[in-house]
Amino acid sequence: MTLLQVESNHFTNDKNTKDVMYPYELVVIGSGPGGAYGAIRAAQLGLRVALVEKDEVGGVCLNRGCIPSKAIIRSAQIFELLKEAKTFGIGLEKVSLDYPIVIERSRKIVDRLSKGLEFLLKKNKVDLIKGKASIADPHRVLVEPSVTLDTEKILISTGSTVKEVSGFKMDEKFIISSDRALMQEVLPKSIFILGGGVVGVEFAYLYRSFGVDVTILEAQSRLLPSLDADLGAELERSFRKKGIKVLCSSRASRAQVENSVLKISYEDKTRVEKELYAHQVLVGIGRKALSEELGLEKLGIELANGYIKVRDNFQTSLPSIFAIGDVIGPPLLAHAASEEGKAAVEMMAGKRHAPLTKTAIPSCVYCHPEVASVGLSEEEAKNLNLTVKVGKFPFRASGRALAEGHDEGFVKVIVDGSSGKLLGGHIMGEGATELIAELTLIQSLGLSVEQVLDVVHAHPTLSEAVHEALLASQGRSLNI
Ligand code: FAD
Repeated sequence: MTLLQVESNHFTNDKNTKDVMYPYELVVIGSGPGGAYGAIRAAQLGLRVALVEKDEVGGVCLNRGCIPSKAIIRSAQIFELLKEAKTFGIGLEKVSLDYPIVIERSRKIVDRLSKGLEFLLKKNKVDLIKGKASIADPHRVLVEPSVTLDTEKILISTGSTVKEVSGFKMDEKFIISSDRALMQEVLPKSIFILGGGVVGVEFAYLYRSFGVDVTILEAQSRLLPSLDADLGAELERSFRKKGIKVLCSSRASRAQVENSVLKISYEDKTRVEKELYAHQVLVGIGRKALSEELGLEKLGIELANGYIKVRDNFQTSLPSIFAIGDVIGPPLLAHAASEEGKAAVEMMAGKRHAPLTKTAIPSCVYCHPEVASVGLSEEEAKNLNLTVKVGKFPFRASGRALAEGHDEGFVKVIVDGSSGKLLGGHIMGEGATELIAELTLIQSLGLSVEQVLDVVHAHPTLSEAVHEALLASQGRSLNI
C-alpha cells in the first residue's frame, strides 16, 4: 500500500453519504499544456489537486511537439541566414552544420522547461503522480501499478498520438513519425513528406534549410488546406523557390523499401499513377485521441471517433468527469488545450460562467516565411453569406520587412461589411506568428475595425503592415 493510499483512505468517507469528503477535489490525467495548466489553476483556486502522468511531464507539446520543433527550426533559420550573409555585406569563409548539436540543443531546452514545469507544480502544491491512469468509477482513478486516488472530480487531458496511415506503416527507420524526426541525429539525403498541413510544412522547411532534398505531397489542392486559400498558394510559391517539390491534389498509396531506399507510389493531380524514390518518408498526417486505455466505454462516457464528447463547460456524459485538449478533438493546438484547462477548472470552481469562445484561437505555422491565422477565411465568410470587406498589405511595401531582408508575404484581414467587426486575419511573412496577436485581440474583444484604426504603430515595424491591412479594408490605405 502506498503512502497516497494511506492518505486517501484516511480522508475517504462512504461515497453514498451526502457530504462526501474525498482526499482530492480534482485528479487530472495527463500533464500536457491542457492538464498542467488546468492542475495549476485549480490549485490556485484552492482545490486539492493530483496530476497523473505516465510519461514525461509536459506532454506532446513540450517533449515531442511545439518546443523541440521550434528549437530545431531556429537552427534552420540561422543556417539559412548565414548562407545569405553576403547579401548583407558580411563575408563568411564556410558555414557548416553539426546536426547532432542541433538536436542536443533542442533536448536541453525541453529538459529545462520540463524541470521548470515540475517546479511550478510543486510550488502550487499539485501532487504529481507518475504512472498510467485509468478510471475505475466516477470518483476513483487507478494508477499503475498500485495507487488508488479517490476524488470529487476528474479532468481527462490525455491528448493525442500519431496514427497509422494505410500503406505507410511506421518502422521509425525508413518511414518515420514526427516523434522520431525530432530525435534522429542524422539527416536523410532525401525525404518524402506525407501531408501538407502544419506539421508537414514545418518539417519540409526545416529539412530543406539543412540541404535535404524534400518532396511534400498533399491530397487537397493547396498546402495548409484548412487556412485561407491565399496562404497556401503563396507558401507553395515560396517553397518552390527554395527547391521543395510540392505535389498537391495528389494521393500517395504506399511506400516500400527497395535496396535501402523507399519507392513511393502516388497518383498525381491528373490521376496518373507515378513513383518516386526517397531515403525516408515522414508521415505528417493523422493523429488519434488517447482515450482507449482509460476505461471510458465501461463507464458509458460518450465518444465520437475516439474523441471525448463534452459540453460547453467541458463536462462529459458523466457529471463528475471532464475532458479538455486534444482528446476532445480539434483544434489540436497547445494554447487551445491550456485555455480549455483553465476555463474548465474555473467553471468547476464556480469562478467562471462564460464558455470559452473558440472563434478567436490563432493558428500558427513556424516554417519560413511564417504563417498565422485567426478567425474565418475569406471563403468561409462568403459561404456564410456575409458581406465581406477584404484589406491586404504586402510585406514588399514595408520598409522594415525590406530592411530585414524578408519581403515575402502579406497581411490580409476579413471584415464584416455590416457590423464592421473583424471576422478573420491571415498573415504570411516574417514575424507572422507574433503579429497575429494584435488581430486576435481585436477579434476576441469584438472591436470594430473603425475603433482601432487610430491606434499608433511604431515606425518602422512589421506591425505597421497589420495597421495598413486594416486601413485598406476601409478604403483608407496610405501606403499602397
Ligand atoms: P498532450 O500534450 O498530448 O499531453 C497528454 C499527456 O497525457 C501526455 O503527457 C501523455 O503521456 C499523458 N497520458 C496519456 N494517457 C495517459 C494515461 N492513461 N495516464 C497518465 N498519463 C497519460 N501546437 C501548438 O499550439 N503549437 C505548435 O507549434 C505545435 N507544434 C507541434 C508540433 C508537432 C510535431 C506535434 C506532433 C504537435 C504540435 N502541436 C503544436 C500540437 C500540440 O502539441 C498539442 O495540441 C498539445 O500538446 C495538446 O495538449 P494536451 O494537453 O491536450 O495533450
